[in-house]
Amino acid sequence: MNTPVPVHTLRLVLGDQLNPLHRWWQQPDPGILHVLMEVRSETDYVRHHAQKIIALFAAMEAFVGARRAEGHRMRHVRIDDPSNRQSICANLEALQAHYRAPRIEYQAPDEWRLDQALAAWGARMAAQGVAVEAVDSEHFLAPRAAVGAFFAPRREWRMEHFYRAMRQQWRVLLDARGKPEGGQWNFDQENRKRWPGTPPEPADRRPRHDHRVIWARIQAAGVDSFGQPEAEALRWPLDRNEALAQLDDFIAHGLPHFGDYQDALAETAPRLFHSLLSFALNTKMLHPREVIQRAEAAWRAGTAPLPAVEGFIRQILGWREYVRGVYWAQMPDYAEHNFFGHTRPLPGWFWTGATRMACLARAVGDSLAHAYAHHIQRLMVISNFALLAGLDPAGVHRWYLGVYIDAFEWVELPNTLGMGQFADGGLLASKPYVSSGAYLDRMGDHCRQCSYAVRQRTGPGACPFNALYWDFFMTHRPRLEGNPRLGLVFRQVDKMGDAERAALRDYAAALRANIETL
Ligand SMILES: Cc1cc2nc3c(=O)[nH]c(=O)nc-3n(C[C@H](O)[C@H](O)[C@H](O)COP(=O)(O)OP(=O)(O)OC[C@H]3O[C@@H](n4cnc5c(N)ncnc54)[C@H](O)[C@@H]3O)c2cc1C
Ligand code: SF4
Repeated sequence: MNTPVPVHTLRLVLGDQLNPLHRWWQQPDPGILHVLMEVRSETDYVRHHAQKIIALFAAMEAFVGARRAEGHRMRHVRIDDPSNRQSICANLEALQAHYRAPRIEYQAPDEWRLDQALAAWGARMAAQGVAVEAVDSEHFLAPRAAVGAFFAPRREWRMEHFYRAMRQQWRVLLDARGKPEGGQWNFDQENRKRWPGTPPEPADRRPRHDHRVIWARIQAAGVDSFGQPEAEALRWPLDRNEALAQLDDFIAHGLPHFGDYQDALAETAPRLFHSLLSFALNTKMLHPREVIQRAEAAWRAGTAPLPAVEGFIRQILGWREYVRGVYWAQMPDYAEHNFFGHTRPLPGWFWTGATRMACLARAVGDSLAHAYAHHIQRLMVISNFALLAGLDPAGVHRWYLGVYIDAFEWVELPNTLGMGQFADGGLLASKPYVSSGAYLDRMGDHCRQCSYAVRQRTGPGACPFNALYWDFFMTHRPRLEGNPRLGLVFRQVDKMGDAERAALRDYAAALRANIETL
């Protein structure tokens, strides 16, 4: 019988570090054992959507298979493995003891919680004579500390400033003189159209996976989850090849119209022209640079207009890198912010989608069915309602962290707490992202089939967004009045008569009291 090759290095690969281009995978070494784990500490830190757990487990399985086929030594600890101690550090410690590995390496995690746990555990192991090293995950374009350093001398943490610096640093969409292509940095003004029903939403060509076996394993382990598992047809790309195919498809069919309808909402088109790349990006199957390069190349080849390409690149080179930097600069305190002091629990229909408000039924329903909703559903429908209704931002954060396929705290928390709930008091957003029903009516077609009347402000059947919107500004006037971007709102409040203001406040109070049955 062959004696196994001793393990000189144990390497931890987290479920969101499935990057086959990382230097770890350049050259197989039989003395290096790579470990991937399905553990209860990761399935249970928040209640997750079933598809999110299935997709992560399935993607890890695919990754293990592909690296093993390349000759790498892999260990996949499954959730039902009797030796599984159900926490990353406990499993690592057991494996280190078993193999007597003198060295452990891990790629720096993106979540503060795991970063702290691994650093503390690593220090303990180092004290016992085991060498522990954290290496770069080689994914992001800006180092963790870059955003904090960039904004340290500035008064305001506005994404746009950082984005322009990133465009220059990475020479993206610049002309030969280093100026922005098209003569301007930002084409946002052109990217706010309502979708009239044409061009048609691109076909959903994502692969179908059957993961009933994985789902059965998750259920047998007793993992609590919510949302539809859709174990017969999981539609998320689970390896790099599938992710690249999704990128090709988006560049050809979605990108040309991405800009125009970036802010639109549509009852019959839940994906519109969005890329559906966030799971592949956040698990690092795709590198942001290649996605940006493909988009820029499409514009240079004349297959997508500049406003669409700039708008798309801004999301990845700008927002994605920026929110990650905000997260690292502000944690751990960031998670505790609650600027407005909101405490109301989330209504039960966040877990069923059963509400008569058509826009919310669609956005929450899509989230539960697909573990996905596009940006405007997340921001201007669900989060807008949550802020206007005074829901507890920590509860909203937990719901967002659990429900979306792409939700990892480094990106979810600043988006939810900062952009969505203004809970950081305006560090990330220059004003609260809230609207009345008129905006939702302008950007989409949900209101046509809603039980509520979008133009009505008060009285039975009036759109809840209207009274909640005006009540929000009346309630929080002392905190918001000094914001120069909100002058018009307060002038409109002042123009109302006392009776109108009182009726709005009464109706808003009634809506909050009956929130479960809206
Ligand atoms: C309240 C709220 C919570 C959110 N939570 C998450 C989350 O948990 N995970 C997540 O990846 N995104 C989150 N976002 C950002 C954005 O909504 C999603 O990235 C996007 O909907 C994913 O779908 P897509 O791949 O089709 O994106 P597209 O619309 O096609 O955009 C392309 C890519 O740009 C990036 N991107 C776009 N907007 C943002 C943003 N605001 N911040 C960071 N990256 C961005 C994503 O990587 C996305 O894949 C959140 C936004 C809001 C308002
Ligand atoms: S009427 Fe109000 S609640 Fe109904 S879909 Fe329109 S905005 Fe949403």
